[in-house]
Formats: sequence, structure tokens, C-alpha cells
Amino acid sequence: MMKYYGKPVQAGMAAGPVYVLKKERRQVKYGETGDVQDQIGRVQRAVEQSKEQLGDLARRALCQAGEEGAAIFAAQEMILEDEEYLEAIYGRIRGEKAAAEYAVAMAGEAFAGRFAGMADAFFRARAADIRDVSDLVVRNLDGNPKQSRQPQTPAIVAAQDLTPGETMELDREKILAFVTVQGSVHSHTAILARMMGIPAVVGVPVETDRLESGMRAVVDGSRGEVIFEPDAGLWEEARRRMAGERERKALLRELTGKENVTKSGRKVQICANIGGIEDVDSALENDAGGIGLFRSEFLYLGRDSFPGEEEQFWGYRQVLEAMGEKPVIIRTLDMGADKKAAYFGLEREENPALGCRGIRLCLERPGLFKAQLRALFRAALYGNLSIMYPMIISLEEMERIQKIVQEAQRELTQEGTAFRVPGQGIMIETPAAVMISDRLAQKADFFSIGTNDLTQYTLAVDRQNGKLADLYNPRHEAVLRLIRMAVENAHKYGKRVGICGELAADLELTDEFLEMGVDELSVPPAMVLPLRRRVRESE
Ligand code: PEP
Ligand code: MG
Repeated sequence: MMKYYGKPVQAGMAAGPVYVLKKERRQVKYGETGDVQDQIGRVQRAVEQSKEQLGDLARRALCQAGEEGAAIFAAQEMILEDEEYLEAIYGRIRGEKAAAEYAVAMAGEAFAGRFAGMADAFFRARAADIRDVSDLVVRNLDGNPKQSRQPQTPAIVAAQDLTPGETMELDREKILAFVTVQGSVHSHTAILARMMGIPAVVGVPVETDRLESGMRAVVDGSRGEVIFEPDAGLWEEARRRMAGERERKALLRELTGKENVTKSGRKVQICANIGGIEDVDSALENDAGGIGLFRSEFLYLGRDSFPGEEEQFWGYRQVLEAMGEKPVIIRTLDMGADKKAAYFGLEREENPALGCRGIRLCLERPGLFKAQLRALFRAALYGNLSIMYPMIISLEEMERIQKIVQEAQRELTQEGTAFRVPGQGIMIETPAAVMISDRLAQKADFFSIGTNDLTQYTLAVDRQNGKLADLYNPRHEAVLRLIRMAVENAHKYGKRVGICGELAADLELTDEFLEMGVDELSVPPAMVLPLRRRVRESE
């Protein structure tokens, strides 16, 4: 096993045979020419040919790597129109009586050398383009414009370095990943790899002489890790991850932008559950219709003190701005039970799952709760926010919440701070909440059913207790009946109802949820598109 780290360029897993792309570095030797005009004419023809070929590559790049990819070759074409560049070539033919090939190679190298010596990494990377273009002109002068050999079957292409032209000439379908010894993350080859979504790592300190085509390798593009001749365990794991990524990409191609609609025209909103600001990207990448559950307690975990109002405001605002017009439901703090932080100073409880958790803790500590509400109300001006309260069991709790909401409103108004009170929903995650859901529906703007807790409290099975895993059955008929009841009661009062517990992603229950009339299913980001596909297959 040979393990190396380079600079990560494009995330993604690849596991497959290596294809070592070795380049014969052509030595262009000095050759004297008899007829200067003849050589200049040859250069001009080769330049025109090269421009046409670059135009072809630009068109190909446009399809495979978008406009940014195409622009690389358009910029290369411009080098061939640069007076200074062309004059440097003609100058060598005239002054040194050099043959066209030699003049292009030498002038191109001198020109590239000027960029290679620049302090700015971006300009240094442009030297590769000049070398690429000059090489193409020389190859056209040789009458041999195509350069690279190709892997015949999908492979990880490993090379000392790769020019954009070489990269684009490779058959996209045959490249699992790029690994280069040289190259910077700013290089055009890196840009192309990114635009084509091909896992890539550059600056990998491997001696290419130790590599042979056909040997196995694993590339983890996000970590910049490359392992040649991996052991069986690593290989299998990487193959599994690669297959998973492939399926996800295929889903993205097939389903991005499509509606969540059944064959008979029934629609459902599919949103993503997130635990932090950093998860927003994955919700958007997976084309979620919004955020159906932002577990805000993650802002409070893994630290030594409470996040202040200001810190929370900026966090919520960031999520809302990133989501634009898409709806975002932030759940207020659901601490206690399995989610604890020492600085809260929570008392030890005999039965923490039945103890002071969720809304109970917030109502016990109104100052803490109010700080969060103030942050949420201020952030509400920056997007499409709703909030919801966890672990509700009574109408009385709703009244106590409203008192604190009003206090926060009053304070903000008195201070002259801009805010908006967003829609307020409740989580239905206790049998008690279901049983009084007709009354709760009159007090809340919407329901979101938390099946993880609803299962544990309905079946009296601790969701944390591994020994009871077989009994923890969210598909239990009792749970499904409770869900149905909550949906019916919400709709009786014209309120929307979603499911945000793990059960929402159970594709075997999708039909049942649709039949119940659930308005929204909120699932982990990676499940958004599989669920969309499931809905679209439904009658
Ligand atoms: C639930 O209980 O279903 C839920 C979504 O909340 P959590 O899993 O965070 O308790
Ligand atoms: Mg819960």
C-alpha cells in the first residue's frame, strides 16, 4: 500500500485501475531553414489549425464543463492572436534562421517562463496554458495534432502533470479521477476537473516511475488522499462509496428541478433536516424544497457557554439567506435527554427521556428561551422562517410560550429593533399531543410530527437503548394511527402538517403518508431525491 496526500481539487471517491499517462517530452532540435518566409507561412497555417482545434475543445468543454471550462480554451485561442507572442516566434525564425518547430518551442517557453516567475499563483498557473498552446502548434507543424493515448476502460489517470488540452481530449466516460504530481489548485486543469465533477488531487508527491498502468488505486478527492495498491478492506469500502456517489449523481441529473408529484397529480413538499449552518449546502445541493427541521440545539452543543442572542441571530440569518425564498423551519432548543452540555448544569434525572427536556427546559429557564426567540424574530426578516416548539404535551404550555413570545416582542419594540414574529408550529412527538391535536391545531400555525420521539413515547421503548432495538418499531400500527389522527386534526382546522422524524424517509411508507394527506416530508439531505423518485413513481 502506498499512501500519499496532495491538494484536494474536487471531492468524490474513485477506486479503479490506474492509467499512467506518460508523455514523451519531445525534444525540438534546432534546425536551420533556408527560406524564412516559408517557415513563417508554416507557423501561420499551424496557428490557424490550432485555433480551430481549440475552438472544438471549447465547444466540447462547454458541454462537459460549462462556460467556465469553455473560457479556458477561448483564452488559449487568444494567446495565438497575441502579437507579442507571434512576433517572438517570427523573430526567432528571422534572427536565428530557425525552423518553425524550434522557433515556436523556444519562443513559447520563453513566454511561459515570464509567467512562471510571477509571484501571483494565478498568473504562475497561466504558464501551463502557454506551454499547452505552443505544444499544440508544434504538433500541428509535425502533422500530428492529437497527443494523448487514452485509457480503454474507466481508470484513474495519473500523470506528472496534465494540460487543459490533454484533459479535455480524454474521454470523459473513461476517467474515474485525476492524480497529478505537479499542478496547482488554480490551474486550468484543476478548474476543468471541478467543472466536470471528476474527483481530482494535484501535487501528489509520488514518483510516477513507481506507478504502472493497471495497478489499483483509491482516490478521496475531498481529503486529497491517494492510495496505490490499497488493501482489500479499503478497496471494498471505496468501491461502495463510489457506487453510492454514482447513484446520487444519476439521481441529481434525473430529478433536480422536478416536482414532487405523484402520477395522479398529488403533490408533497420535500424538505431537508439539518443540524447546523454547514448542512445548508448539502440541502441545496440535493434540491430540497426547504428546511423542514433545523435542530437548533446543535448551536448549543460542543461548547463551554451559551451562544448569545447575537451569535444565534447571525447563525439563523446565514441559513435563511442561503435558502433564499425557500421555507426554513427552525425548532427551538430541544436540550435534555440524550442532548446535554455541561454548562447547562442539568440535574441528574432518573428518567431523562421523561424528564426536563425540550420545551420543559425552556419554560423552566425563560431567559434562555427568550434570547433564542429574540434572535429568531430578528433573523425572520432575512428569509422565509417559521419556528416550532418541541415536546409539547398541553395547551397550557402553548399559553406559557405565548407569554414569553409577547415579552420578547415587547422588548424588541421598545428597543426599536427590527423583527418579525414568524409562523409558530408545534412538534407532535408525544401521544398526548396527538390526543389533543384537534385543540392544539387551533393554537398552532402548523404541525410537524417527530416520529422518533413519538415512537419511543407510544411504545414505551427508550430510543437510546440498544437492547430494545427490536421493539423500537416506528412502523408500529399504533404509531401510524397516531400520525393519521394528527394529520386529520390539523387538516380539520386548515393547518399544514409535515413529518420530520426518520420515518419520513421510509420509502415503504410513502404511499401511506400520501394517502393520509401529509403536506410535507422532511428527511436527511441525501434522502431528498430518492424520496422524490419514490413520490413520482406513486399512483
Ligand atoms: C423526532 O423526535 O422525531 C425529531 C425529529 O426530533 P429529534 O430526533 O431531534 O428528537
Ligand atoms: Mg424529538
